[in-house]
Amino acid sequence: MCNLVQVGTDMSSVLNQHVLVLNRLWQAVNICTARRALTLLFQGHAHAVLDRSDGSFQTYNFNEWHDFSQQEPHPESVRTVSFRIRVPRVILLIIYDHLPKKEVKFTRLNIFERDKDTCQYCGRSFDRKDLNLDHVIPRDRGGPTTWENIVCSCIECNTLKANRTPQEAGMHLIRKPKRPKWRPFVQINFSLRQHDSWKHFIDLAYWNVELGEDLQ
Ligand SMILES: [Zn+2]
Repeated sequence: MCNLVQVGTDMSSVLNQHVLVLNRLWQAVNICTARRALTLLFQGHAHAVLDRSDGSFQTYNFNEWHDFSQQEPHPESVRTVSFRIRVPRVILLIIYDHLPKKEVKFTRLNIFERDKDTCQYCGRSFDRKDLNLDHVIPRDRGGPTTWENIVCSCIECNTLKANRTPQEAGMHLIRKPKRPKWRPFVQINFSLRQHDSWKHFIDLAYWNVELGEDLQ
């Protein structure tokens, strides 16, 4: 077993550092402690991921990571009874991660999130306090309160549209409102300090949400 022995005062803080967890599709799904990451690595459930200077990524199984840790001593390493090992910043799960697919709740907050605080008529971004939720087909015309019929709208566009359909008002939605797909990265607590090596994957998660079939 991988007995991590505490040999210095810094050891504990090193083991509690945050490591970004990617699923088998290289999507950011979680953040764990270095302690957990090393256990997953040791158990063969994850590979360490290192970004190289050319922008590509190399993965290491436990033995490879162990060897790499000996070659290039790194300040963020922990020492076990018999060897030193570097703490990875990013790990890639190679097991099925059993993460349940969750429905995104239909809430005011999640509509703002989906529409990125942007008026869906004029495309401008606003503070949330300056955005309304608009029924695309007005409620009294039978428009339901659903993901597909509610969008963020600025006060100006809302006033202009009044109680009309976009077609009647001569206005166009910048994209068709849809129920958002489950987004794995929403589980990540972004108040935690992010490392440079996470940026690629966090950005990727962001862009995966922004683009795709939601764009009309
Ligand atoms: Zn607007």
